[in-house]
This record gives sequence, C-alpha cells and structure tokens, in this order.
Amino acid sequence: MKIKVLGSRGKIEPSAPKYQNHSGFLIDDKILIDVGEREFMSTNPETIVFTHFHPDHAYFIPEEEKFTPEIPLFGPQEHPLIPNLKVISGKFDILNYSFTPVPVIHALKLKSLGYIVEKNGKKAFFTGDVAWIEKVHLQQIGKVDVVITEATMINKGGRINRKKDKIFGHTGVPDLVRILGPLTNRIIFSHFGDWFFENVEKNPEKLKEFSTAELEIIPAYDGLEFSF
Ligand SMILES: [Zn+2]
Ligand SMILES: [Zn+2]
Repeated sequence: MKIKVLGSRGKIEPSAPKYQNHSGFLIDDKILIDVGEREFMSTNPETIVFTHFHPDHAYFIPEEEKFTPEIPLFGPQEHPLIPNLKVISGKFDILNYSFTPVPVIHALKLKSLGYIVEKNGKKAFFTGDVAWIEKVHLQQIGKVDVVITEATMINKGGRINRKKDKIFGHTGVPDLVRILGPLTNRIIFSHFGDWFFENVEKNPEKLKEFSTAELEIIPAYDGLEFSF
C-alpha cells in the first residue's frame, strides 16, 4: 500500500512551503481520503471517503458549491452539498480494499469517522481529527502497520472544549502517542497546527522526540509518500 500525503496543514492561517495544503491522503493513486483542496481532484481518484465535513477536509463547503464527481463518495453522515454521498453504516469494501469505520470524537455537531484500510493483509488506520477515541473502539482495532493521525496541538491535553457531557476539539500529540502507539510501530503525524509553523525546520524533530525503540514517528509534509 502506498499512502501519499497531499496536504499536511490544519485549519489555520499560517502556511509554509511543503505545508500549504489542507487535509488529503491518496491511497495507491486511487482512493482519496478527504479533499481539503480543489486541486486534489486532479489526481483523478476512483473513489473518495470523508472523515468529517469540516472545510479543511472538504474544500467545497465554504464556497457552498455542490460536490458531484461521478465516482463513489462515502462519508459519516449526509451532507447537503453531496447529493450522491453514501452514508457509512458499517464495514464496507471499495475496489479491493476493506474499510472499517472507527467512531472518533471531534466536533460538537458533526460525526467523525476514522478508517482502518486493509488490503492483502496490510493495514493502515487513518484517524482524521481527534478529540478522543473511546477505549472500546481502540481495543477493536488490533495491530496495524501504520497510523496516520493529526498534530494540531503539541501540548498534552491539546485543546478540548466541553459542552454539557460532550467534548470536542483536538487532543494533544502526547495523548495520541499514548493511545495510538500500542496499535502500531509507526505513526505519521499530519494536519499541523499553529505551533508547527513557528519553526518548520525544527518542529519535525520535536515530533520525532516521541519515537521509542518500538515506535517510529514520521512527520508529514505535502507530497510525502509512504509505502509498506
Ligand atoms: Zn481538520
Ligand atoms: Zn475537523
């Protein structure tokens, strides 16, 4: 499986060369996960799967433009701009890949899904944006070859908002390493927040400090390709 990071920037103002595009991952030049930029469509994906409908993952939302490419489109819930969206209700197959959705807590009013993508025994887990993932869901994931997650916040605890009994926002990189590390030997961090842009030369190294003997940390950038 080959994963190409098309966009590594979170929903923030700053950008830098190599860190300009909003979220998108291309699997084997065929399957696009999230479409943070219009230009990602020029990769001619055969299918698209959305993690959630925030504008940095679906470029057409702020422009209120209908999104109607004639390919299968999947997402966690209906969206008025995507009339042909298939709403995911459980495990599904696309091309020769199996997708297992994993419920992720992230936004107050939107559903979010992560996906375990599997082909020929190789497994990748894309988390999307994360405030938290319930233990019961983490326990069902088992071992994966790589986790692709987000790095909006570098501080422990991240930036979590609370409303009644709900939480939303982004947890921190240290928390993600703690909960996702046991699932894998490699974590790719993408979706960088403001902290990262304070020093784009040095901050990839700051992420790598979370590596251990059992865990390789791979900081993403626009165009990074990772095969396994
Ligand atoms: Zn995002
Ligand atoms: Zn989001």
